Amino acid sequence: MSKSEKNPKVIIRWEECKGCGLCIEACPFDLLYPSEDFNSHGYHPTVYVGEGCTACGTCFYSCPEPGAISVYKIWDEWTEFAYCKNCGGEYKVFTRETHPGKQFCTNCQEEITE
Ligand code: SF4
Ligand code: SF4
Repeated sequence: MSKSEKNPKVIIRWEECKGCGLCIEACPFDLLYPSEDFNSHGYHPTVYVGEGCTACGTCFYSCPEPGAISVYKIWDEWTEFAYCKNCGGEYKVFTRETHPGKQFCTNCQEEITE
């Protein structure tokens, strides 16, 4: 599989992150850093630099906040976009075997609803 076909990505949910920095310390490639901006809870959420992720999952396993980090091994696998009311914008969607026929936002993990 060529590099262009396998494009890992990490997504950190802005409002779920408590800014503890554990994932920043854990990433072996220094790909995560604290945002200068605050979320609505007054924390500086962690941000991904945008490239270089190997999908090793170390950040995911270091995070104490359920749902704050998602690691996608093959980000390009999801090419369909839909409007997510929760995020207020167009995001890639994915499906879950446990919820046949439903689509979920790759940004916030919530179900895409009409
Ligand atoms: S999955 Fe691994 S390489 Fe990617 S951001 Fe997390 S710790 Fe870093
Ligand atoms: S470990 Fe989780 S809560 Fe802590 S900074 Fe990283 S994403 Fe945020």
